[in-house]
Amino acid sequence: MADTEEMFLRAKHRTFSGLTEGSCPSTRSCGATAERLAERLAERLTEWLTEWLAEQQAERLTERLGERQAEQLTEWLAERLAEWLAERLAEWLTERLAERLAEWLTERLAEPLRDPEEAERQWTGPFCFIQAADPQLGLMKAWRIGDAVGGGDEWEEEVALTKQAVAGVNQLRPRPRFMVLCGDLVHAMPGTEFREAQERDLKEALSGTDPSIPLVFVSGNHDLDQVPTPSTVEQYCRAWGDDYFSFWVGGVLCLVLNSQLYFNGSACPQQKEAQEAWLEAQLSRASSAEPKPKHILVFQHIPLYVKSPDEQDEYFNLPQEARQSLMERFKRAGVTAVFSGHYHRNAGGCQDGLDMVVTSAIGCQLGDDTHGVRLVAVTADAVVHRYFSLEQLGQRGVNEELRKMLQAC
Ligand SMILES: [Zn+2]
Repeated sequence: MADTEEMFLRAKHRTFSGLTEGSCPSTRSCGATAERLAERLAERLTEWLTEWLAEQQAERLTERLGERQAEQLTEWLAERLAEWLAERLAEWLTERLAERLAEWLTERLAEPLRDPEEAERQWTGPFCFIQAADPQLGLMKAWRIGDAVGGGDEWEEEVALTKQAVAGVNQLRPRPRFMVLCGDLVHAMPGTEFREAQERDLKEALSGTDPSIPLVFVSGNHDLDQVPTPSTVEQYCRAWGDDYFSFWVGGVLCLVLNSQLYFNGSACPQQKEAQEAWLEAQLSRASSAEPKPKHILVFQHIPLYVKSPDEQDEYFNLPQEARQSLMERFKRAGVTAVFSGHYHRNAGGCQDGLDMVVTSAIGCQLGDDTHGVRLVAVTADAVVHRYFSLEQLGQRGVNEELRKMLQAC
């Protein structure tokens, strides 16, 4: 279980910036490398100098002493010389070289790597990631028996589907830079009977994700409760990481929001206010950031809207007031796309360049879509995405499709 715990801790925002963690040598190991190199160089130099000096001496000594005596003396001299050189030269060289090399290596390598988040601010070319939603362990059974509130006592199907998604994602080439799960991780509301077991089984199912693909978790209404309280938010954070945070990936700024605070934040006024202030700061900082983000992407559980920006308020969208305010600010800041789930069907729209992406579920389907995930290709000019069924995801052709998406635009 230790590995699983580590993986989930990594997803928390304070450490999430470590997308490249583990792949770069630290300043200290640069110094150690330099020292080793210097030692080896000094060794070689000593060997070479000893040989050369011995040869020089041998010629002169043979002239004066004759071959046999000269040989003996040369041998003796070479030994003394090697000893002396090894001691003095090696020490001196090691010191000098280690110093210089460490300096040089630190400058070349350590600088951009000292802060992995700093390195992720740079655009280094197209990449892809996975957006998925609503594994919602427990809903399929609950939905089938028509008891979405009290049901949900079995969730093997969702566990199998999540494992199928993980296996498909692991096969993708190029590898996705991360996988984001846009909420409703489990069906049981906080504090209810099956909650703990569902959370444990989801973590177990996700633990097969390739360690090079960090997981990003977004909170949904089932994770926080329809009307979240400080206590349910805290419980969620303890299990899955912060409920709102930002991170950079390959020159792209990603913002993760707690959409439940916009849906109904009445029992969490402080949390609601804090997220608002944080979001405002993030968006204004993004416009003056240097380098400028290639794209800004938002991840939240509840879509701003399902089909049209001016549709009526309902269970599956954010209330008009919050919706319009967010859309206006997202457009002003130059957000490219908002990714969401919650609808258990694929939907969405695009207005004034702001793409509202609604992705169907890994778990229970409420429409005609199949269980699946969305592949997102990020290029310099565009963010293109396509929903793949879990079956398609497991087939060979998917990598060909992915390459085409990465070359588009
Ligand atoms: Zn939901």
